[in-house]
Amino acid sequence: RELTVDLGERSYPIYIGEGLLDSAAGYFTKHGISKKSTLMIVSDSHVAPLYLETLEQHLRGEGFRVTSAVVDAGESSKSLAVLEQLVAKALEAGLDRKSAVVALGGGVVGDLAGFLAASYMRGVQFIQIPTTILAHDSSVGGKVAVNHPLAKNIIGAFHQPEMVLYDLNTLQTLPIREVRAGLAEVVKHGLIWDESFVEWCVTNAGKLQALDADALGYALYKGCSVKAAVVSEDERENGLRAILNLGHTIGHALEAVAGYGELLHGEAISIGMIGSAKLGLRYGAPQSVYDVTKQSLQSCGLPTRLPAHLDTDAIMDAMSHDKKFKESKMVFVVPVAIGKVEIKSDVPVEWVREIVEELKQEA
Ligand code: NAD
Ligand code: ZN
Repeated sequence: RELTVDLGERSYPIYIGEGLLDSAAGYFTKHGISKKSTLMIVSDSHVAPLYLETLEQHLRGEGFRVTSAVVDAGESSKSLAVLEQLVAKALEAGLDRKSAVVALGGGVVGDLAGFLAASYMRGVQFIQIPTTILAHDSSVGGKVAVNHPLAKNIIGAFHQPEMVLYDLNTLQTLPIREVRAGLAEVVKHGLIWDESFVEWCVTNAGKLQALDADALGYALYKGCSVKAAVVSEDERENGLRAILNLGHTIGHALEAVAGYGELLHGEAISIGMIGSAKLGLRYGAPQSVYDVTKQSLQSCGLPTRLPAHLDTDAIMDAMSHDKKFKESKMVFVVPVAIGKVEIKSDVPVEWVREIVEELKQEA
């Protein structure tokens, strides 16, 4: 499958299929990646042992000059310190302005390598080879960043890739918890945009969790299509792009309070989407919107209850650090129908507090 992210002269293709890792060189050549300049593959300590050698050997065999850097798996690698190490490696290997940086991994590697590509010599070409389901979200849209100890994703840029190569075979080794967490963003893309896709997800939730290649290919195609459509209309988040934050206001607060690791991002936003659906009810959405939201997330094996030991005050406090907080009103993405959300900028803080409490009682 193939689709295009339509951004004028920065448009780029997303290829989704089995075995793309072994045919990457053809796509590279087609999209003007130079064989004269060294390209640098960035991967992490889980993904590299599984797929790096295959990709390196294939590219070298096709005449590309390749160097690689492997960072520790996990969010902590999205740091300025690791970025600095990567820059040192890039300089040592002689990367120049015509070089490309290739991200082989999940969202962590994509964001880190993407920021390297955005900043090294004021910007070089960038290729995304996502290996998680979640990365269908992070690899499309051009947001790249590293974290600061005080805030996530705070040092970053918009830097669109030349292409996204999604090899479904790489997903076969993904731990089931990561599979489910990634499906949360897939379902989110349905909930904000496409009712029939939500129904499809519920019907195919079993196949998706069993990593059926056809089902996964379709789900990632649809998820990427929604993301691409939204980003095409609003590349720099001046308006529409905000709908992608469904479930993220509560979700980010939960991640921060639980400590990164206890709740995966997808798990936190799953609970957050239930919270948003509860808000929807208060704004008059039909009960079925809440019911279908819950059913779609539960069918994918995702949590819907907020862990009771997480302190409500701490969660509210964490949300106040999120930029979406003005006086006693908050901004939320709220489902009004399945496949349709609205931005509400007048959500009473008290409602949010009540919903956080309700989420602890959720079945
Ligand atoms: P991740 O990159 O940490 O991957 C999750 C885990 O799976 C890691 O341990 C990784 O080593 C492992 N893994 C990856 N691929 C594997 C494979 N094929 N087989 C076995 N193990 C594999 O996390 P993620 O969930 O992919 O991404 C989360 C990151 O994405 C966060 O840092 C988040 O901020 C970022 N993100 C960015 C955007 C954006 O628009 N740029 C959007 C959403 C999320
Ligand atoms: Zn997200």
